[in-house]
Amino acid sequence: MNGKEKACRACRFLIEEGDKCPNCNETSFTTFWRGYVVILKPEESEIAKRMGITKTGKYALRLSR
Ligand SMILES: [Zn+2]
Repeated sequence: MNGKEKACRACRFLIEEGDKCPNCNETSFTTFWRGYVVILKPEESEIAKRMGITKTGKYALRLSR
């Protein structure tokens, strides 16, 4: 509706379209999120390790719902 990306509830991966998370294959999303990080090299990123991220992409920092 607002054209904003939606965030995967399980891993916070942000996608613009589609119903399945490319990172963890979950199908539950929310558009209520705040802030994001772009992970370019998950294998070299401390944040990625902490968040359990294995795939390059944009991730929400916080989900509010
Ligand atoms: Zn996910």
